[in-house]
Amino acid sequence: MAGKEMPRAESYSLMENLKLKEGTLTLGPSRVVLMTDQAYAFLLRVIHENAPHVIKYAFYDMGYRVGEQLMETLKERAQDPEKAFRYFVETYRQAGYGNIEVTSFDLSKPEATLRGSNLFESRLARGADIYRSPRSVDHYSRGMFAGFLSVLLGKEVVCEEMTCEFRGDEACEFVILPFAE
Ligand SMILES: [Zn+2]
Repeated sequence: MAGKEMPRAESYSLMENLKLKEGTLTLGPSRVVLMTDQAYAFLLRVIHENAPHVIKYAFYDMGYRVGEQLMETLKERAQDPEKAFRYFVETYRQAGYGNIEVTSFDLSKPEATLRGSNLFESRLARGADIYRSPRSVDHYSRGMFAGFLSVLLGKEVVCEEMTCEFRGDEACEFVILPFAE
């Protein structure tokens, strides 16, 4: 991390921004619903039973679109990309996706890295019982990081998961890089 002091994400509470009115739960401008990890595991299993080859791409793509859309709602933060990205990652953490932090952010490349533990996808992948061999499984998460940063930077980036708790690594580590042209 080249000795650079990493700024902390600004402190705020996602829970304080949740509002329930007449059966509609909202977080800022978006309606949200609570989904148990068992429900997500069922979704994973149903897709696996019908089209196992699409899982990796479908969940990445779904995350990517969500990341893009979330960034659109945070447009006013775009003038400070690192702060905006940290805010987004903090929101991801507080939304219960898992414990994660930005470990580096270099706007000049651009490149960012993240390190997470107890992420919901790698946790529920064990119970979903669909993967026959060790692998990285946090496709929705890496899609979200890539989609968010692509819009934020106005440049297509991709996110790869280099290590994953699901395959026995100490943590899930992600790297976000420009899309190869
Ligand atoms: Zn992982």
